[in-house]
Amino acid sequence: MDIDFSKSAHGLIPAIIQDSETKNVLMLGYMNAEAYQKTLDTKKVTFYSRSKQRLWTKGEESGNFLNLVDIKNDCDNDTLLIQVQPVGPTCHKGTDTCWATENKQEYGFISNLENTIKTRRENADSEKSYVASLFKLGINKIAQKVGEEAVEVVIEAKDDNDDLFLSESADLLFHYLILLQAKGFQLNDVIEVLKSRQK
Ligand code: AMP
Ligand code: ZN
Ligand code: ZN
Ligand code: ZN
Repeated sequence: MDIDFSKSAHGLIPAIIQDSETKNVLMLGYMNAEAYQKTLDTKKVTFYSRSKQRLWTKGEESGNFLNLVDIKNDCDNDTLLIQVQPVGPTCHKGTDTCWATENKQEYGFISNLENTIKTRRENADSEKSYVASLFKLGINKIAQKVGEEAVEVVIEAKDDNDDLFLSESADLLFHYLILLQAKGFQLNDVIEVLKSRQK
């Protein structure tokens, strides 16, 4: 691919950074020919930083590298679309993308539910909140509850009542999220394990 670095001022072309999995647009940076070559060589996205006035490998301080997956040139060779696997949050303000207002929207509804569970755990009255009462009972009881819900899923799987099966599945997932949180984890941690098994 022939990129036209000469067309734009200072030999810099914009590079749109996209998460190869979620397809979220993560950030925008600029590359000169050298940054582009370094990106290809190291497989870590490297920009030319206009403020630092030097090559800047995203993640060089934070460790939140952008691992290169694919580069596409646009129709007239002056803008790059770079697909990556981000190591951590891409924005230096801690969010997944430079346009995000809230972090960890990756798993959308589930992430919001995890936040709600966390808030209940920290703030709610265990007399009034079911989630808070579970945390008060402790990990063993929560784990036992997950086991019970799993058995209910098994029972409903044998039947052909779809509504009951889905309802018990929701119970299981809900209690499983609570167990993960009680153990100090999020669904994302489990997903990372699954992803690592694909490699
Ligand atoms: P990093 O490359 O993640 O080690 O961050 C090093 C520095 O680069 C930060 O302190 C910020 O000044 C800047 N920086 C990091 N990520 C971004 C970003 N997504 N957009 C703009 N500046 C950033
Ligand atoms: Zn173009
Ligand atoms: Zn940012
Ligand atoms: Zn149930």
